[in-house]
Amino acid sequence: MTDIKELLLSRIRDVADYPEPGVMFKDITPLLADPAAFTALTDALAEIAANTGATKVVGLEARGFILGAPVAVRAGLGFVPVRKAGKLPGATLGQTYDLEYGSAEIEVHAEDLSAEDRILIIDDVLATGGTAEASIQLMRRAGAEVAGLAVLMELGFLGGRARLEPSLTGAPLEAL
Ligand code: AMP
Repeated sequence: MTDIKELLLSRIRDVADYPEPGVMFKDITPLLADPAAFTALTDALAEIAANTGATKVVGLEARGFILGAPVAVRAGLGFVPVRKAGKLPGATLGQTYDLEYGSAEIEVHAEDLSAEDRILIIDDVLATGGTAEASIQLMRRAGAEVAGLAVLMELGFLGGRARLEPSLTGAPLEAL
């Protein structure tokens, strides 16, 4: 394992049965509180942003905001938040997606994205891939190209990577 992987993993806390029984929650707050780890993560994600030729970073609510915003600044790119429905004040584009029980909706300010944009989507954890898949669809509907998806951590046993393959259409999925 590389040094950065070891450092990042050592700062992620497993919380059993949170927020509900059977879920092992990956808590990144120890990582955020450690400046060396947070900086290493930001630098690694900014390198991915540069390598993918991204023009903007899109962060997924809520931890994708914390990780994505410093990456955008470090890479010299704009930051665009994808929020849960009903939180953005301007004209939005929305995308609904299925959850285990029921459905959810995410939104983005349409005016923040254009056909010239190549988007690096950032989140903390890739689980089933439902949120990321909806975000990719949202970017495309906004006319932007998806340059890639970068996450701190991928829960491989949930099959998110395989689910996203068709929608990523060759764009990289990087899990640190
Ligand atoms: P999914 O749509 O199933 O890929 O879930 C991804 C979203 O849920 C991300 O925004 C994560 O922050 C959050 N999430 C899902 N599972 C976990 C987990 N075990 N620990 C921490 N966050 C999680």
